[in-house]
Amino acid sequence: MISLKRNSRGEKVEANGLRRESSRYTPNQSEPFKISRSKFSDFLTCRRCFYLDRVKGLISPSLPGWTLNSTTDLLLKKEFDLRRAEQSPHRLFEKFDITHVVPFNHLLIDQWRDALRGGLEYRPDKSNIILHGGVDDLWLNKETGEIIVVDYKSQANKNPVNTDSYLKSVYHETYKTQMDFYVFLMIGMGFRVADTAYFYVCNADVHADTFDGKLTFTETLVPYQWSIEWIPREIDKMVEVLNTEKLPPINPSCENCAYSQQRALIEYKATDD
Ligand code: SF4
Repeated sequence: MISLKRNSRGEKVEANGLRRESSRYTPNQSEPFKISRSKFSDFLTCRRCFYLDRVKGLISPSLPGWTLNSTTDLLLKKEFDLRRAEQSPHRLFEKFDITHVVPFNHLLIDQWRDALRGGLEYRPDKSNIILHGGVDDLWLNKETGEIIVVDYKSQANKNPVNTDSYLKSVYHETYKTQMDFYVFLMIGMGFRVADTAYFYVCNADVHADTFDGKLTFTETLVPYQWSIEWIPREIDKMVEVLNTEKLPPINPSCENCAYSQQRALIEYKATDD
């Protein structure tokens, strides 16, 4: 994909490929440094790209926004906020037998849901790394007082959503690590978190006969038993990578790296001719 850098007025500007120095991590720095959920996920996918980004300041080409997905998120947020104000269960809760659950009403809920305004935030003890991420929603189990972490997902899959296959899909591995990460932050922030988190999956009906200006979705709650014991281990490894002066290894399955290596080879040969 070819991505052109534009300013806020939509005008094309020169892309230099590097972020400003003040937003980079300096190996062994003691000043606090923020790592978002998506950068932690980058670390899990490829240590080299994470390092090139966070330490060397290399900017990945931007991607177009997922506007249809963000629209379902936005509308769900509005819908849940109505129930939050009333402290009443959402219409889907009866079907999934969780009528004792209501959207969590907290002063900071808007901030926690907004990755740009901080999101959930936790600094592990003795670490200069501040972890943060914007969560989609939090619900409250009124019987236990525990918080339920929720992630909205939109898709268009011809098969109905099934909990088992949804959670086993290799394409949903990152969804689970994302959920684990939010749970880790919530627990770090001092909340009691329910063992079951939920993916609120909106699946567009691809079998409809016509479009008629609307997409119809089936909504399913996929319960997920989170696990967070792996996270501190990975954070330690991430800090090790940040503090190294050496380039970490690549992910050999990465198509982007294969592309840039082949391209460099072709260009090198062309200049040689
Ligand atoms: S393998 Fe290469 S391009 Fe792919 S994520 Fe890693 S460093 Fe980036």
